[in-house]
Amino acid sequence: HQDEREGLYRLMNYAKDYYKESLLHSEEGQSIGLTYFRERGFNDRIIDKFELGYTLNEWDHLSKKALGIGYTVDLLAKAGLIVKKDDGRFYDRFRGRVIFPVHNLSGKVIAFGARILTKEKDQPKYINSPETEIYHKSNVLYGMYQAKNAIRREDFCYLVEGYTDVISMHLSDVDNVVASSGTALTEEQIKLIRRFTENVTVLFDGDAAGIKAALRGIDLILKGGLNVRVLLLPDGDDPDSYSKKVGTTAFKQYLKDNTKDFISFKIDLLAADAKHDPIKKAEAIRDIVTSISLIPDAIKRSVYIQESSSLLKIQETVLLTELNKLRIGDL
Ligand code: ATP
Ligand code: MN
Ligand code: MN
Ligand code: MN
Repeated sequence: HQDEREGLYRLMNYAKDYYKESLLHSEEGQSIGLTYFRERGFNDRIIDKFELGYTLNEWDHLSKKALGIGYTVDLLAKAGLIVKKDDGRFYDRFRGRVIFPVHNLSGKVIAFGARILTKEKDQPKYINSPETEIYHKSNVLYGMYQAKNAIRREDFCYLVEGYTDVISMHLSDVDNVVASSGTALTEEQIKLIRRFTENVTVLFDGDAAGIKAALRGIDLILKGGLNVRVLLLPDGDDPDSYSKKVGTTAFKQYLKDNTKDFISFKIDLLAADAKHDPIKKAEAIRDIVTSISLIPDAIKRSVYIQESSSLLKIQETVLLTELNKLRIGDL
């Protein structure tokens, strides 16, 4: 299978170069794709750094070229670059979209995300590569190749939702950032982060879906033994839109001023409307203790219990009793 993997890497690299070429040197790519990136504020440096591309709006442009230089239909299908129909015919998976290559840790392209440019309602906004021999979605974080040195240097990592959030943060010179690409975070992805740092700051979209994903992510990251901080954006914004709205300097200041420990984040969020409602307050407390119970390290758990006790104005012994109930399975 080593040969097949090598073939897939070569084909994905060929497709990436082809998409880049289409973006920068074809008329359609320049007038549609490049214009789109420019409108989003992406400069040449960033387009080059992320190897962004464009795919022409035709049924078989890439596959025809690839077949012409000796790649097989079989390999194109295994790479997820074409979609095969029952009658054996096939067409290119990505058409008339801007392209975001996904790199592995050594910089090889293993998948693509492709964003639509029009507002057609019956088309998904993003189309992504399927799972292949060289691409296992649950093991990959978008932007890790471009971020890994900065993550080591800063000793923490921002976790955002989308491709364009990663890119916009690089435009603001915040390079220690990776994206879960809209899917639920996995244990493997947390292990991947752990190779570079033990500190994660979750920076999800400021909408209901983002908050829900952040809460789920927090618990999974805690379980993985990493330290979690959280940053919530104003309602309706994501890191890309917010940094464009307020500008680089104010955006970076916002990151500095609004990063919270996960306990404070949960207290603020869950207790916002529970201040004078004992039932809701009790629920919030139980929720926080549940998160703390997931932390593998006993000393950290104890520190967080102390912290919660003082923030929530509840006796430590009460929280500890609850914690011990939740961790009873471990004994
Ligand atoms: P943009 O700023 O270009 O609109 P976004 O990243 O803000 O994109 P969101 O809707 O916030 O888009 O989604 C976050 C991420 O989820 C996307 O970057 C993408 O990876 C993934 N995603 C979004 N919509 C889809 C979809 N229809 N199919 C597959 N993945 C998607
Ligand atoms: Mn969103
Ligand atoms: Mn978004
Ligand atoms: Mn966005």
